[in-house]
Amino acid sequence: MVAQNPIENLYSVLVVDDDPAVRLMIRSYLELEGFRTLEASNGDEALAEAFANAPQAIVLDIMMPGLDGYAVCKKLRENPKTNRSVIIFVSVLDKVNSKVQGLQTGADDFITKPFDPSELLARLQAHLRRMAIQQEKEKMLERLAEKLAFMNKRLQEEAATDSLTGLYNRRYLWKRFGEEHQRAKRFNHPLSFILIDLDRFKTINDRYGHPAGDKALKEVGKLLKNHLRGIDLAARYGGEEFALFLPETSLQNASFVAERLRLACHALKIAPIPQGKLTFSAGVATFPIHGVTPQELYEKADQALYAAKAQGRNCVVTASFLSPNGDTSR
Ligand code: GH3
Ligand code: MG
Ligand code: MG
Repeated sequence: MVAQNPIENLYSVLVVDDDPAVRLMIRSYLELEGFRTLEASNGDEALAEAFANAPQAIVLDIMMPGLDGYAVCKKLRENPKTNRSVIIFVSVLDKVNSKVQGLQTGADDFITKPFDPSELLARLQAHLRRMAIQQEKEKMLERLAEKLAFMNKRLQEEAATDSLTGLYNRRYLWKRFGEEHQRAKRFNHPLSFILIDLDRFKTINDRYGHPAGDKALKEVGKLLKNHLRGIDLAARYGGEEFALFLPETSLQNASFVAERLRLACHALKIAPIPQGKLTFSAGVATFPIHGVTPQELYEKADQALYAAKAQGRNCVVTASFLSPNGDTSR
């Protein structure tokens, strides 16, 4: 058929009437206006066509053999494929209560036979216009919601991340550490915590410049990330301090990890800082042997770190070597 209006071309209309002459008249008229049309001669056929093709609009007779138009309309509204289609009753019933019943069943409009096809067309177009605007609005809202969700995620990531190293920040570490600690308690698993502090970092800055210091912090961040498992978490705890927690990791394994990291850091060469100049000291504490709360574990790891500094730096000390007053016992 001639496409007079490209918009109409996008729409298909199901014409339901038991009278073939009425079907032919409506279809011919709508097709001349550029609509695609389908037809059905009774209620069951109408439902089968509608559910198979999900037409944008349905022109529906009321009195038909078998299912009447009201029953068809009700079923169309219950099905997600057709619950948004425009439904227009076209019927010889002209009493007010027939029209009220039709609209209450879920139809959008009601035209009494005999009718002028131009009125059907005008009403159909008005409803389709409204539907298109509604759909556009919904799409816009959907896009907006997607954008908001994306921005929200970005904000959350930014709020959890340290901008220099890309590691998590202290706030996020404590949040996750709390959660991991709960899990460790519930399943009776060990959980290890490591505090790392770069040695004489002030001297590194003084000697090689602050930008070199920043670069060193970034490289240490990368090193930590690369050496840890997916379930471990590394954070920049403060200026030149880092904190890690290792779920389901015994003291022995955590000490081994800390030692491996220490050696890897010692081996770093970050020009202009010569190899061997960038070192760290670390303190290790493990749940439940050194503490039962995250705060206790932190304190024990911090005391162990302090002891590592006292021992000459560039070494790892575990909380097991602390005497009750926090000094190392060996
Ligand atoms: P120690 O071995 O006892 O830890 O000595 P230290 O010099 O590392 O310790 P101190 O706490 O005296 O100094 C920490 C230094 O870390 C001082 C500060 O300028 C530097 N620092 C902290 N944050 C940053 C940063 O973001 N970038 C750079 N380049 N330096 C930083
Ligand atoms: Mg420090
Ligand atoms: Mg330091």
